[in-house]
Amino acid sequence: MYDYSNLIDGEWITGEGDAFETLNPARPAEVVGRYSGASARQITVAVQAASAAQRAWRRSTAVERFAAVEAFVTGVLARAEELAVSITREQGKPLAESRGEVAKSCAEARIMAAQAFRSQGDVMPSARPGIRNMVVRRPRGVIAAITPWNFPILTPMRKIVPAIAFGNAVILKPSEFTPSTACILAEVAQALLPRGIVQVVNGKAAAGSHLVRHKEVAGVTFTGSVPTGKAIFAATADTLAELSLELGGKNAAVVNDAGDLGACLDQITGAACMCAGQRCTAISRVLVRRDLYAATLDGLASRFNATVLGDGMNAGTTMGPLVNAAQLAKVDAMVNDAVRDGARVVCGGSPAKIAGCDGGYFYAPTVLADVDPAMRIAREEVFGPVLVVLAFDSIDHALGMLNDVDFGLTSAIFSEQNTVVQRFIDESENGMIHVNHGTIPDNHMPFGGIRNSGVGAYSVGPSAINFFTTEHSVYIKGQ
Ligand code: NAD
Repeated sequence: MYDYSNLIDGEWITGEGDAFETLNPARPAEVVGRYSGASARQITVAVQAASAAQRAWRRSTAVERFAAVEAFVTGVLARAEELAVSITREQGKPLAESRGEVAKSCAEARIMAAQAFRSQGDVMPSARPGIRNMVVRRPRGVIAAITPWNFPILTPMRKIVPAIAFGNAVILKPSEFTPSTACILAEVAQALLPRGIVQVVNGKAAAGSHLVRHKEVAGVTFTGSVPTGKAIFAATADTLAELSLELGGKNAAVVNDAGDLGACLDQITGAACMCAGQRCTAISRVLVRRDLYAATLDGLASRFNATVLGDGMNAGTTMGPLVNAAQLAKVDAMVNDAVRDGARVVCGGSPAKIAGCDGGYFYAPTVLADVDPAMRIAREEVFGPVLVVLAFDSIDHALGMLNDVDFGLTSAIFSEQNTVVQRFIDESENGMIHVNHGTIPDNHMPFGGIRNSGVGAYSVGPSAINFFTTEHSVYIKGQ
C-alpha cells in the first residue's frame, strides 16, 4: 500500500487538501495507495520554496547541474523495478511495458541533460562600430508541471529533468490516478538534489489549478487532455506564464502500398494496442487503399484476437485494463454509438471479463469497419484499444481524411512510392511523421504536436530549451 503526502521544501508534509485513494484497475476492490493532497496555501509555500531554491540553483554551473541530474537518474534506475511495479499497480499496463517506460524515461533524461551543454546562444553582427552582440539564454525560473495517468514516469521525467538541467526549480502535480511513481521520484530527489529544486504536490484538478495560476510560476508544462489544456491556457492569461501544452491525438496510419502487408500490420497493431491504446501517440485510425481493405481487416483482427488481456503483473499478459471506470465507460459508449450509426465490429466491441480480475476495467481489443469519417469514433480521441479502418481511393482522398480532424500529433505512412512519401511529409498536418513504421518516437527527437495537439515548445530534443530558458539580447560596448 502506497501512503504519500507532499514533498514541499525538502520535507514530506501532510496535505491540508483533499485526501484520495488509488485503485488497482485490474481488481478495483483493491486499494493501492492513499494520498493527502496539498491545499492552496501549501502550494503557495511550495512555490515560494521553489523561488528561493532556484535563485541559488541558477548560479550553479552547467557541469554541476549535469552531475546532479546524472546522480538523480542513477538514483531512479536503482529503484527501477519498484518504479515499474508502481506503474503497473496504479495504471494497469503489463509489467514489461512499465519496465520499458522506466528505461526510456532515463534514456531521454540523459539526452536532455546533455542538451544543457549544447550551444545556447549566438554571436551576432552589430549595427554599430565597437559593439559586440550576443544572444544568451537563462533559466526561466519556477516551472509548474502537470501530468496525466498514462505514462506515470515518462511524462514527469520529461518535465523534471530538463527543468533542473537548465537551472530551474520544478513543482510536479502528478495525476491523481497514478501518483505513486511520482512520489518515488520525489524520494529520489529528496535524497540526492538540493532542497526545493524538485517538489511534488498531490491532488486533483483543484491542486493543479492553484499551481498553474500562481504568479511566481514562470512556465507551465502540461500534458493531458484538450479541455484541461484550454483551461490552463485561459488560467495563465492572467500571469502570462510561458506555456508548453501536449494534448491529445487522433493519429492515423495511411496504408497506400506495402511490400509486406503483414509487417505493416504488426507495426500498426503495436502502435494501437500498447498501453491498451491509452497513448497520445496511439494509432486509432487506419486509412487503407480500397484494394487492401479486406486483407487489412482480416490481418488486424487476427492480431488483435491474439492479445492476452489480464493483470499486468501476470507473466504472459500482453494488454492490461483501462485505467479507471470512467475511461472504460467512455470507450464503451463511443464504440456503441459508432455501431448504432452503422459501424461493423470486426473483433472485440465490448468490455471483457477476466478470470481472477473481478470488476477489472478490461476492454476487448476492437477493430471497426464501415466507419464514416464524420462519425465521432473517427474524429475524437478514444484512448482505448480501438482501431477504425477507412478505405480511400487516391492519395488526395487519404490526405483529406487524414487532416480532417482537429488534432495534429503523429502520423505514419506505409508506401514504397517516393512521390507519395514526399507528399505525406509535406502535407500530413502533424507534429510527428513516420514513414514505413509505427508511431514510436526516438528518445532524442523533438516530441509534440500542432493544432489541438499542442502549444509551445516540444518537450524533448533540442527545441525544448525554448520553454525551459528565456532569451536575452546582449550588446557589449567597450568603454
Ligand atoms: P486530464 O487533462 O484529465 O488530466 C491531466 C492532469 O491535469 C491531471 O494531473 C489532472 O489532475 C490535472 N488537471 C485537471 N484539471 C486541471 C485544471 N483545471 N488545472 C490544472 N490541472 C488540472 O488528462 P488525463 O485524462 O489524465 O490524460 C489523458 C489525456 O492526456 C489524453 O487526452 C491524452 O491524449 C493526453 N496525453 C497527451 C500526451 C502528449 O504528449 N501529447 C501524452 C500523454 C497523454
